[in-house]
Amino acid sequence: MNILMDMHTHTTASGHGYSTLKENIEAAKERGLKVLGLSEHGPAMPGGPHIYFLSNYRCIPRQYGDLKLFCGVEANICDYEGGLDVDENHLALMDYVIASMHVQCCKPGSVAENTKASILAMKNPYVKVLGHPDDSRYPIDRKELVLAAGEEQVAIEINNSSLNPKAARIGGRENIKELFFWCNEYKVPVLLGTDSHICYTVGDFTETLEIVEELKFPKELILNYDLANLKWICNIPVE
Ligand SMILES: [Zn+2]
Ligand SMILES: [Zn+2]
Repeated sequence: MNILMDMHTHTTASGHGYSTLKENIEAAKERGLKVLGLSEHGPAMPGGPHIYFLSNYRCIPRQYGDLKLFCGVEANICDYEGGLDVDENHLALMDYVIASMHVQCCKPGSVAENTKASILAMKNPYVKVLGHPDDSRYPIDRKELVLAAGEEQVAIEINNSSLNPKAARIGGRENIKELFFWCNEYKVPVLLGTDSHICYTVGDFTETLEIVEELKFPKELILNYDLANLKWICNIPVE
């Protein structure tokens, strides 16, 4: 089985990415992906795109040969009430929305606070993916998180960048194994994302797939293998 989509990628527009959209598209095609997701950071990220950037996606063509492009946002969870840095009017313009916690935008709280923030963010009807809940800087109850994701029909992201030994996030490997454990236990689907900030890593899930093999995590619970699963992630109709 081949991975068909990478829904977590950034370009220079995110302020700390190093490739253009064109470079990411070319890289995705070279990797054999069928769908590329552009998920720029929300405007609260230092150096992130202005909110106007998100309202101009309409000018971007969506088909490049056999590669389809989806344009979304990795919104910042900004408080323990699950508040995002993108308002509803702009969320409604997105093909899909990932919500994530970043130290630049939300101070890590207690286990209860971080868990509450993530669960309330998942209750936002536009949020269909919870980004990288795998960072020990944000102590969190991963069992509660996975149960809530199941209830809200939100996918848990397994983030390949968290497995990079140079990652800013801490404890990625053990935390990702725990996420896989609970997702398997409660049959909650996961979405693999590279979180690429440069074209060379677009579609490269090497470290994640090693863990998938090691744990014998069921492929049926990994959304990336079937384009029909896009309907679970996207806020727009997907044929
Ligand atoms: Zn980033
Ligand atoms: Zn992120």
